[in-house]
Amino acid sequence: MMVRKMPLLPKRVPIRTCIACRTSSSKRAFRRIVRTESGVFPDESGKRNGRGAYLCLQAECWRKALQKPQIIEQALHTALTAEDLARLQAYADALPPDLKADLA
Ligand SMILES: [Zn+2]
Repeated sequence: MMVRKMPLLPKRVPIRTCIACRTSSSKRAFRRIVRTESGVFPDESGKRNGRGAYLCLQAECWRKALQKPQIIEQALHTALTAEDLARLQAYADALPPDLKADLA
């Protein structure tokens, strides 16, 4: 009977967790979204100042989050405006439906 827990990973590898599907990985399969003074944006650089959250780089997870915007609101400690939602929705629409096969 195996009782092993999650394997330990070196600490310097940053682990991200998708706020929609809760998948954790160090792979660059995530897109950061960031809360700024002018709203919530997809953060292509991953380096913008502000509270950030991560979503898998696939439309499925973005749609999931956008269907329940409170997932994003809780992660970013903010309320999403209609503009924020429209911006994130447009971004989601441009993403491939499922990248996991390519990353495996
Ligand atoms: Zn995900």
